[in-house]
Amino acid sequence: MSKYDVAVIGSGPGGYVAAIRCAQLGMKTAIIEKYSTLGGTCLNVGCIPSKALLDSSHHYEDAVKHFEEHGIELPGEVKVNLEKMMERKSSVVSQTCDGVKFLMDKNKIDVLEGVGSFKDKTHINIKNSDGETETIEAKKSIIATGSKPANLPFIDLDKERIITSTEALKLKEIPKHMIVIGGGVIGLELGQVYRRLGAEVSVIEFMDRIIPTMDSALSKELRKVLKKQGVKFYTKTKVKSVSREGDEIIVKADDKKDKEVEFKGDYCLVSVGRKPFTDGLNADAAGVKVDDKGRIEVNEQLQTSVDNIYAIGDVVKGAMLAHKAEEEGSFVAEIMAGQKPHINYNLIPSVVYTWPEVAGVGKTEEQLKEEGVKYKEGKFPMRALGRSRASGDIDGMVKILADEETDEILGVHMIGARTADLIAEAVTAMEFRASAEDIARISHAHPTYAEAVKEAALAATDNRALHV
Ligand code: FAD
Ligand code: NAD
Repeated sequence: MSKYDVAVIGSGPGGYVAAIRCAQLGMKTAIIEKYSTLGGTCLNVGCIPSKALLDSSHHYEDAVKHFEEHGIELPGEVKVNLEKMMERKSSVVSQTCDGVKFLMDKNKIDVLEGVGSFKDKTHINIKNSDGETETIEAKKSIIATGSKPANLPFIDLDKERIITSTEALKLKEIPKHMIVIGGGVIGLELGQVYRRLGAEVSVIEFMDRIIPTMDSALSKELRKVLKKQGVKFYTKTKVKSVSREGDEIIVKADDKKDKEVEFKGDYCLVSVGRKPFTDGLNADAAGVKVDDKGRIEVNEQLQTSVDNIYAIGDVVKGAMLAHKAEEEGSFVAEIMAGQKPHINYNLIPSVVYTWPEVAGVGKTEEQLKEEGVKYKEGKFPMRALGRSRASGDIDGMVKILADEETDEILGVHMIGARTADLIAEAVTAMEFRASAEDIARISHAHPTYAEAVKEAALAATDNRALHV
């Protein structure tokens, strides 16, 4: 029987990063993955393929709508070759997954293919697709089994026309009318992909605004921009049934006035969140407890109810984000090695990769109000930047919220070109507990989108933004 210091179950961004860090710290490590490719949800059916399609569809939209204003003339009509777009996406995915396999080999981590299932707290059975079972012994284990799409109890996902993100990432045709249930990250990112490719897109959201967990100023601006792009929104609308008649999908819902409304389309994307995944893990056999939401219960050290077993990523509490899973992967490896790592959960940024991109970190204005914190606000519109005018990306703004008395930055919320990258400056500043004035006094290259961060900081400091 093979013996390991650590066995990691699941090879998503949580699991594979944990395995690398364990190996770096000198532990003999195995990673168990039920699929033949490594990388989990993020690389196979999440972050990477969705961004590949967002990028491809963005190029198409630019060619159709914006090339002309830049003085670029195309010889004929611009057309989408969806098959080729999907092939490119698949090749980006496979290159990225191969990269993880390379990293496992480089770090001498044994990759064991099959479903990992606890026999007891130190033994794991691994059953491969041929039905063969191997048992390994591991002094410590890390559960990183991730999540799966959630569904509403009355929806029968046929995975052909009533679909989740997994199927939406590999459609063979452009929908005529895609009905999206859930105005969160997945609904908006994939909704924008198909809208750009020509589909009519209707987003039905239960809450009173889209991306409801982000700062409301971002929800408002994103809704305005996506509406201009042709996406239709129905907020405060509660879906009650989804049915299929031939190729037609009928969605019935109660609108904000409690009146029944009906939507007809050819595809319905259900994007109402994700749920932790522990099927087949046999957590009970090891004595690992699961909470009432199906998540593996962990303490502050990410240790489960069993002392030698840890859990990380989407399968535990907290934001379901790849970079959160990665941080937790390194964290548990270092805990196991006797180090004292730390994760500041308040400073895990959230990003929506629509265009304009949306990003936020720290407290939202709504949270500060609720907590009774006295704050000041500095805002700067993207349209006032030279860089934005040069590229034509004038939508959006940066908003900095700072403590009224100490000037410490409490939250940064932005929407605009490349804000997914710009948010890193805010995270760094906040990790160092910077004040708004600190950012205001730092030189930012001109012309860049990053100047909006400096200007918003100037506005927060003393209402002294320079370019508005
Ligand atoms: P996962 O990535 O879910 O990996 C878990 C792995 O465990 C899987 O490979 C699974 O097969 C394996 N597994 C499960 N059970 C067993 C078992 N018993 N034995 C062996 N293997 C097992 N997050 C971002 O931060 N940025 C984004 O842009 C982003 N975009 C996304 C887009 C989409 C469409 C989706 C669906 C998600 C996106 N996410 C994004 C979320 C991100 O994918 C997840 O937060 C992240 O993958 C979680 O990592 P994880 O390691 O916890 O689990
Ligand atoms: P989400 O939680 O972002 O959004 C789900 C939305 O559905 C919410 O706005 C919610 O109010 C709404 N909703 C719930 N029930 C509803 C109902 N009955 N009718 C109408 N609307 C309803 O979830 P998601 O978009 O499915 O994404 C799942 C997870 O994947 C998220 O946790 C997210 O963090 C992660 N993800 C992240 C990224 C990124 O970081 N860019 C991209 C995609 C996915």
